[in-house]
Amino acid sequence: MYKDLNNKVAIVTGGSKGIGTAISERFGKEHMSVVINYHSDEAGAKEAAETVEKNGGKATIVQADVSTEEGNQALLQAALDKYGDVDVWVNNAGMEKKSPTHEISLDDWQRVIAVDQTGVFLGSKTALKYFREHDKAGNIINMSSVHEQIPWPTFASYAAAKGGVKLFTKTIAMEYAKYGIRVNAIGPGAINTPINAKKFADKEQYDQTVSMVPMDRIGKPEEVAAGAAWLASSESSYVTGITLFIDGGMTLYPAFKDGQG
Ligand code: NAD
Repeated sequence: MYKDLNNKVAIVTGGSKGIGTAISERFGKEHMSVVINYHSDEAGAKEAAETVEKNGGKATIVQADVSTEEGNQALLQAALDKYGDVDVWVNNAGMEKKSPTHEISLDDWQRVIAVDQTGVFLGSKTALKYFREHDKAGNIINMSSVHEQIPWPTFASYAAAKGGVKLFTKTIAMEYAKYGIRVNAIGPGAINTPINAKKFADKEQYDQTVSMVPMDRIGKPEEVAAGAAWLASSESSYVTGITLFIDGGMTLYPAFKDGQG
């Protein structure tokens, strides 16, 4: 628990399932007030909000598409109407589409970039504008992936978006550091969430993924949420512009793990 997070206000995008739910619930344990954004799964968002409140925090749910300016504005407005402020903005919403690159339709490419990259830009822009207008040393956390670093054939749109999130995060971290605003990314590895449900239901694919993790297991959403809480708190007060990999060592070139090469 980080005492300085008590009563702080957070916006978490894509909070109706997976990592976004885990971050919201962890923020509840920190006794924060959380605006939980959802796109289509209202029931999931409601459930997450109930857990946040059981955990000792406050929560409200807001439907919005993070790939639009209106969507991000609605999230800010909800935080201000309900809790009067915003301290932490977590751009977590994301999606992926698998396809050989020569067969990706322009629509599919643009949708992944719109949610995973433009959504992060719009959320960050909305947060930065609010922080600057109120001379506030706010905190932004962008959900990247190990695929900001590791190429991922047949997921080119996703890897391109996350690579963009990496340098966007570093750029705005540098641009706004002088105002006390911190901006960091998290790079999860293979985490057990609905985005991976189909893959992990197949034993062969599950085992194959585990074989790419030096720690020999899939990660839990709560382990990513713990990183978000640390980045949001003043315990990380001298940290900006990093990607915090939470990946069981996936970015350590595991093909070399027994001295190969
Ligand atoms: P998930 O599919 O469980 O959750 C993604 C959330 O984003 C959902 O709630 C979904 O509704 C929401 N979302 C999608 N499009 C949206 C839009 N236009 N507007 C608002 N919300 C939208 O996936 P997850 O695993 O929890 O992923 C969360 C983030 O973590 C994503 O950015 C993902 O790329 C990243 N990530 C996940 C893993 C993993 O292994 N699970 C690994 C690396 C990175």
